[in-house]
This record gives sequence, structure tokens and C-alpha cells, in this order.
Amino acid sequence: MKTTEYRNNEITISYCPFKCKQSNVCTKELSDVFQNSVIPWIDPNGSPTESIIKQIKKCPSGALKFKRHNKEMAY
Ligand code: SF4
Repeated sequence: MKTTEYRNNEITISYCPFKCKQSNVCTKELSDVFQNSVIPWIDPNGSPTESIIKQIKKCPSGALKFKRHNKEMAY
């Protein structure tokens, strides 16, 4: 399994399955974007970008990252 990416107009979200601790913090707190039962499981247009960024910063494992377009990848 390799890192996958999901883009909206402002950011690219990356997800590394090897790092994920399956804590479900993301799916519980922002289910409009992070959905266990849907493929692809991340909808980068499911909520405003700043809400997505706020949620990514709560990921306890670092499996989720984001990159504002034209900037470096950030946690
Ligand atoms: S918050 Fe991070 S560690 Fe938890 S399920 Fe989501 S991606 Fe995995």
C-alpha cells in the first residue's frame, strides 16, 4: 500500500496507510471528508479547506498531511 493523494482547488491531502493507527479521529470528527465506508475514503471537497487542515493537524500518527498548492508539505 502506498501513499495516496486527494486534491481540491487549494490543497493536496496525502495519506500514508503504513503510519495510520486506525484511531478514527478523522472519521469521527470530520465525516464529511473522511469516510470509512466509501471509496475513495477521503473527499477533499467535503468541507471547507480550513476545516480539513484543522482536522489533518489532529491526526495522531502523521498519516495525514497536506500541502497548500505551491508550498511545502506540512503537518
Ligand atoms: S486520524 Fe490519522 S491515524 Fe487516525 S484514522 Fe485518521 S489517518 Fe489514521
